[in-house]
Amino acid sequence: MKDVEAGVDPVTQADLQAQQVIEGSLHYLYPHLRIIGEEDIDPNDFLTIDTASKKLLEGVKPVKTSFSPLVPLEDVTVYIDPLDATAEFVLGNKQSPATLVGIALKSVAYGGVIHQPFEGVNGRTLWSLTDFGCGDDNEIKEKNIMHTRTLTKRAESVLVTTRTHTSQVTEDAIKKLGMDVTLRIGGAGYKVLLLLDGTADVYCYPTPGTKKWDTCAPEAILNYLGGKMTDAQGNSIDYSDTVNLHNKAGVFAAVTSEMHEKYLSKLKE
Ligand code: AMP
Ligand code: MG
Ligand code: MG
Repeated sequence: MKDVEAGVDPVTQADLQAQQVIEGSLHYLYPHLRIIGEEDIDPNDFLTIDTASKKLLEGVKPVKTSFSPLVPLEDVTVYIDPLDATAEFVLGNKQSPATLVGIALKSVAYGGVIHQPFEGVNGRTLWSLTDFGCGDDNEIKEKNIMHTRTLTKRAESVLVTTRTHTSQVTEDAIKKLGMDVTLRIGGAGYKVLLLLDGTADVYCYPTPGTKKWDTCAPEAILNYLGGKMTDAQGNSIDYSDTVNLHNKAGVFAAVTSEMHEKYLSKLKE
């Protein structure tokens, strides 16, 4: 699925093996499931962990009693970024790298998992599934979104944007947004975690570069927790279109829909 293009991020054994396991296990459990992964894996190289996917949802009950979990499999697409922010990973950055698994239901980001392999003792897994719930097994309490989202009140407005893929368009966008602080940090998943942790208010990446596997899981979790992600023109990202995988109009996300509206209008001025 990866384009051969100049400046593309590096690929490591970690990217390839993570996708072998995730895609292999999902394919084993659901042979007809549509899976779009960043790395091209030969099915002969699939690895399986047969019960891993079931454990996460043990004991989780739908929050809407009327909800029917039976959806046609053809309406579901799973987007896998086995390792987001590989460029940061090879530099030894332990926070930005994350495994992203997004579940789209028709065009919408419906569920997601963000796993930071180097957080805490065994990594941190944050997940959400619309109509079911969300969870965060982070062992570091101060960073647990369930605790901090309601508590964080900052005087300064904080923007988070790309560290390695900036451009004149991005720099112009930063000026237009006029936020107090700009953080330049790698990783699509990690930038959304910074919104959820209360570190930042807005994530803006107004140029092409991310693909649907970068945004599906983060968008689902952000939406579930009251935030909003669109492209940088304010249009929804259509996850049912599995042919055009580039987020050509960029990414624009905020911790609440009000902030999304407020800063998107500044960006469009
Ligand atoms: P960034 O905000 O630049 O850290 O980008 C977030 C993630 O999106 C990266 O870790 C990549 O997976 C992907 N991405 C963004 N821009 C590009 C690009 N120009 N080429 C390849 N991948 C990109
Ligand atoms: Mg990525
Ligand atoms: Mg990747």
